[in-house]
Amino acid sequence: MNHAHARRFLTWTLTTDKPTSARCNVLGNSMLPHSKDKMAVAVAIKDDGKRVAVCECCRNHIAATHWLREHGQEPSESKIATVSLLLSGRWEIMQRQGYQRNAIMHFVRILEGLGHVTRDEKTVCAGQVTRREVSFRMISPS
Ligand SMILES: [Zn+2]
Repeated sequence: MNHAHARRFLTWTLTTDKPTSARCNVLGNSMLPHSKDKMAVAVAIKDDGKRVAVCECCRNHIAATHWLREHGQEPSESKIATVSLLLSGRWEIMQRQGYQRNAIMHFVRILEGLGHVTRDEKTVCAGQVTRREVSFRMISPS
């Protein structure tokens, strides 16, 4: 997602309306992955007043873009990906899949330093192997 693409989301408003379309209507690209099933979960209103059904992943990307702007951060691709991941509440799943790009970890630590993110650590026993699992969550998702 380039910055222009990200800034587009700043003009979109998420609503709590129920989507009338079953599928996400956002035009995706390589940087904006849809949820696997593309099932619409929310409605966003674009700057031209048009309503768009959005899937969970697109909704999180829109919310992440607004969150960054509200907290004085320029919405770049990796920052949006980071906050979107935190908003999805699926950090541990991503971690198990080895989905941890350096840029994401870097920005999570910055957010942690700013007090926006908290760290949960636990020890997981899998057979004879014990490993440490670290996950992060937003303190103030609004
Ligand atoms: Zn989507």
